[in-house]
Amino acid sequence: MTEKKAEMSQAMKEKLAPKKFVKNPIKGTKYTLLISSAKGGVGKSTFAVNIAFALQNLGLKIGILDADVYGPSLPKLMSLNEKPKSEEGKYLVPLEKYDAQCMSMGFLVEETTPMIWRGPMVISAIKTMTEKVLWKNLDVIIIDMPPGTGDTQLTFAQQIKVDGAVIISTPQDLALLDVKRGIEMFDKTGIKIIGLVDNMSFFKGDDGKDYKIFGEGGVEKTAKEYSKEFLGKIPIHKDLRNSNDNGEPLTHSAPDHEVSLIFKDIAEKIKQAFQ
Ligand code: ADP
Repeated sequence: MTEKKAEMSQAMKEKLAPKKFVKNPIKGTKYTLLISSAKGGVGKSTFAVNIAFALQNLGLKIGILDADVYGPSLPKLMSLNEKPKSEEGKYLVPLEKYDAQCMSMGFLVEETTPMIWRGPMVISAIKTMTEKVLWKNLDVIIIDMPPGTGDTQLTFAQQIKVDGAVIISTPQDLALLDVKRGIEMFDKTGIKIIGLVDNMSFFKGDDGKDYKIFGEGGVEKTAKEYSKEFLGKIPIHKDLRNSNDNGEPLTHSAPDHEVSLIFKDIAEKIKQAFQ
């Protein structure tokens, strides 16, 4: 009699216990790196593809997962618009370009299709792209996250084993307020922040001077305030924008370009953080 009571209370306890999520690693890769920004338009996707090839230039085998279900940018940045093949009707084979394995929601839907999905559909798309894609022998998957702190971020934080995150911002105060929110989200969900990057940090004029168009030092200051590493400053550069428009990341087409060398420096710091 007493035994039965104890058994029931145990079952009850389990039912009432807060839900524990199991964090599964993405299969086929050693490391998973999130590239995040608190708001859109700060150059997160530009950073994601260029840091991916900077890591490739250091000898790592890379995959790029565009997790921005609402606004995929990988098809354009890599000039890729084939449909991925399906294997056994269950799995998706990533597309390959420049020796990188790539997956994006943009490969699966028409460019003009508006994404009017609700939360559960977004979560299911993320689960498909992290569980059903046949990534092969990668050292690192670079994940271009959507901006903000929504369903995708929560799914990654609770259900996927992540090895580190890099936060991209521009130097303005407004962008920085959002960055603080982003830092707190990763800290609360136990994702290691490898560091912060200041994009569109300055513009070098024909006179050789650096012009700080969006202000100065804000990202570095925020990094200090939260005891995070400051990884570097990327200038506004037309070659970087042109490479986006041409569909070949600058760090791939011109690894010795002055901007590519800044990416190289940041890639070395990221690589070290994984060891
Ligand atoms: P996000 O992913 O944060 O929305 P994108 O990477 O799409 O931002 O960048 C927004 C726009 O700014 C794009 O047109 C991109 O080519 C441009 N851009 C981003 N970073 C730079 C930079 N450092 N120099 C020049 N153009 C940039």
